[in-house]
Amino acid sequence: MKLSELHTGQQAVIVKVKGHGGFRKRILEMGFVKGQTVEVLLNAPLQDPVKYHIMGYEVSLRRQEAEMIEVKTAEEIARSGNTAQEADQEQEQTVITVALVGNPNCGKTSLFNFASGAHERVGNYSGVTVDAKEGYTDFEGYRIKLVDLPGTYSLTAYSPEELYVRKQLVENTPDVIINVIDSSNLERNLYLTTQLMDMHLRVVCALNMFDELEHRGDLLDIEKLSSLLGMPLVPTSFKTGRGLQDLLRTVIHIFESREGHDQYYRHQHINHGHEIENGISNIQQYLKGNDLLRLKYSTRWLAIKLMEKDKEADKVVRQLPEYEDIIKARDVAVARIKEETEDDSETAIMDAKYGFIRGALQESGYKMGTKNDTYRVTHQLDNIITHKWLGFPLFIFLLFLMFEVTFTLGQYPMDWIDMGVEWLGDFISQNMDEGPLKAMLVDGVIGGVGAVIVFLPQILILYTFISFMEDSGYMARAAFIMDKLMHSMGLHGKSFIPLIMGFGCNVPAVMATRTIESRRSRLITMLVMPMMSCSARLPIYIMIIGAFFSARYQSLVMISLYVVGILLSVVMARIFSKWVIKGEDTPFVMELPPYRFPTSKAIFRHTWEKGKQYLKKMGGIILVASIIVWALGYFGTMGVAPSLEESFIGLLGKTIEPLFLAQGFDWRLDVSLLAGVGAKEIVASTIGVLYGGEYNFSALEAYAFLLFVLIYFPCLATIVAIRHESGSWKWALFTAAYTTLLAWIISAVFYQVGSLL
Ligand code: GDP
Ligand code: MG
Repeated sequence: MKLSELHTGQQAVIVKVKGHGGFRKRILEMGFVKGQTVEVLLNAPLQDPVKYHIMGYEVSLRRQEAEMIEVKTAEEIARSGNTAQEADQEQEQTVITVALVGNPNCGKTSLFNFASGAHERVGNYSGVTVDAKEGYTDFEGYRIKLVDLPGTYSLTAYSPEELYVRKQLVENTPDVIINVIDSSNLERNLYLTTQLMDMHLRVVCALNMFDELEHRGDLLDIEKLSSLLGMPLVPTSFKTGRGLQDLLRTVIHIFESREGHDQYYRHQHINHGHEIENGISNIQQYLKGNDLLRLKYSTRWLAIKLMEKDKEADKVVRQLPEYEDIIKARDVAVARIKEETEDDSETAIMDAKYGFIRGALQESGYKMGTKNDTYRVTHQLDNIITHKWLGFPLFIFLLFLMFEVTFTLGQYPMDWIDMGVEWLGDFISQNMDEGPLKAMLVDGVIGGVGAVIVFLPQILILYTFISFMEDSGYMARAAFIMDKLMHSMGLHGKSFIPLIMGFGCNVPAVMATRTIESRRSRLITMLVMPMMSCSARLPIYIMIIGAFFSARYQSLVMISLYVVGILLSVVMARIFSKWVIKGEDTPFVMELPPYRFPTSKAIFRHTWEKGKQYLKKMGGIILVASIIVWALGYFGTMGVAPSLEESFIGLLGKTIEPLFLAQGFDWRLDVSLLAGVGAKEIVASTIGVLYGGEYNFSALEAYAFLLFVLIYFPCLATIVAIRHESGSWKWALFTAAYTTLLAWIISAVFYQVGSLL
C-alpha cells in the first residue's frame, strides 16, 4: 500500500520509493530508505502535510509525496504467509515496474515477448505498438512487470505516441526504464536516451541488435560509453533472446542500488553549451521553489522543455504564480541563442544533444565496421526500389499482385465458409420448431453474420501482405515513393499505408493513422478514409453487379467503383487541405529502416492484430444490427407482420422514400441503406432478405445505388474510431455528414443525367 494510506499510529516497512531521480534522492536523504520502519505520527484525512517518525526523527511529507512511497504493514506481511519463512519469501517478491522505451522497430516487442512469455495483456497494434501492453516475468525472486510502450524517436510532443510515452513516464513513473537501442544505428537511437537522461529516470540500456553490430564488425567500448552516459548498457539480441538474463539482472541491480554508487549509475547533465545552460538555470530558479512541481518533474527537464517551447510543459507551469517571470526568462534565453547561433532554441538544443552523442561515441572508440556492411543489400535494393523510374511501376505491380492474390486465393476459403454457413442454416431450419426464435437464428443471426464472416479470409490475406510489406521495410519505401503525390493532396507519404489498409477494413486503418506525425495530415487521412472501398462493401457489389451486368462487364464495373472512390479521396483531400484544415505541412523524416526478412511469428502476430478488429466488429455491432433488422422486418404494428411491406421496416422505408426520389431508389433500397449505418455488410444481408433475389429496378438505378453505398456514411465502428483518433466528436460527425451528403449528390446527379441519355 501507499504510505499516504496509513492511519495515525500505524507502522510499516518501506518497500520502494517511486518518482524521478531528484525526488527520490531528496526522499532517500530524509531517511525513507527501503527496509526502514516508518510510523505515522499524525495523519488527518484533510490535513497536509502528514507527520512521520523515521530513524529517530520527526519528518513531515506532503500527501502527494507520501503517495509515491510504497510500504507494507506488519499485517500485510503476516497475511501473505503463515510461517515466517513464507512471509519472508513473499516479502522478497518485490514488484519492479519496467517500461520499454525506444525507437520504432528497435526490438521492444521482441524483448517483451521473450521476457514475458505467455503472461501478457492488452493488444499491441500493427507496425506500431499503440496501447501499452503489459506482462510480467518472475526473475531471481522479483516480479518484473514489463510495459511495452509505443516506439518513438524522441519525447517531444509531436505525435500522439510521443505524448503518450511521456505521460506514462511522468505520471506512472516506472521503477526502471529499459531503453531499447538499435545498436546498428547508435547515433540516432541515443538521441532518445539523452532525453531520458534529462528526465532523470533510472535507465538501463539494452544494446539490441547486437548481432548486427558484430556482424558488421563495429568497434565500441561498451564500458566506456556506459560510464559516459552514467547508465548500464547491456548487449542483447532479441532475435535469439541473447542477453536477456543479464538485462534483467541489471534492472534489479539498478532498482536496488542508490544513484551515484558507481559510475554506471549516476545522474548526468548533458552540457548544452553556455547560453542554453544559462537559460535552463534561470528558469529552474523559479521552478525549484515549487514543491508540488518538483515532486513530479525534474525541474531541469521541464526547463529544457520550456526552452524548446513545448506546449505541454507550458501547460504545466501556467498555473504557477511565477508564470510570467518564467516565460520572460525563457524568451530572453531564446533570443540570446538566436543571436549567437542563428538557430531557434529547439534546433540548438537538438544540436547540442547530437554533439554530446558524437562526443561520447568518439570517446568510446566507436567505429563502424566494414567487415560486412549490413546495409549493403539495403543500399542496393533501395537503388532499385526508390528509383525515379523503376520504383513506381514496381510498386503498382506489387499492389496489383496483392489484390489479385487476395481475391483469387481468398475465393477458396470463402466458398468453404459459405458452404459451412449454409449448412448451419439448413441444419437449424430442419431441427428447430417454427417460431420467432428459429426465424431470428436463421434469418437474423446466421443470415446477417454469415454474410459477413465469409470475407474474413480475404481480409486476413490482405493483411498478411500488408504486414509482410511493413515488417520487411517495403512499406516505408512505398510511403517514400508516394510522398510527393500525397503532399499535393495535403497528406503525407505515411498516409499511404493506412489508406491501403482501408481497402480491408476502415476501422484498423483509421487507427493506423497514428503513425503520421503531422496532425493535419493525420486528420485529412482519416476524413478521406471512407472513400477507400472496404471489403464490407464487396458483398453488395457482388450481389448487385452479378444481377445487373453481363459477365463481360462485371469486373470493369467493380473496378470503376474502386477508382471512383480513390478519385473522390483525392478531390476531397485537396478540398479539405485547402479550405477546411488549413496549415503548413510540417516536414517529417521518412525513415528508411533496413530491409529485414520478417519472421513468420511477427507476420502472424501483426496480421492477427489487424484482423482482430474486424472480428470484434462482427461479434458486436453486426450481430446486434442483424438481429434488429430481422426483428423490424419480422414484426409489424399487429405483431408478426404478414408481409414485409407491413412490417416496421416496410413502414419505415415508405416513410423515408421521398428522401431518395432523386436517385430512383424504392423503399427496400432505402431501408438497406439505413440498415447499413451499423455496418455496410448489413446492406447486402438486408437486400437479401427484402428482395429474395427478385429485383424490380434498372441497371441505372443499380449503379446509382452502388455509388451511394460506396460513398455514404462508412459505418458506426469507423465513425467511433475517428472520434477516438481525432480526439473529438466534431470530426467524426463531420465525416458522417459530408460522406452522406456527397453520396446523395453524386448518386442523384448520376441517376438524373443517366435518365436523360
Ligand atoms: P518494436 O517496434 O521495437 O516493437 O520492434 P519489434 O520487436 O517488432 O522488432 C522489429 C524487427 O526487428 C522484427 O522483425 C524482429 O524480428 C527484429 N529484431 C528484434 N530484435 C532483433 C535483434 O536483436 N537482432 C536482429 N537481427 N533483429 C531483431
Ligand atoms: Mg512493438
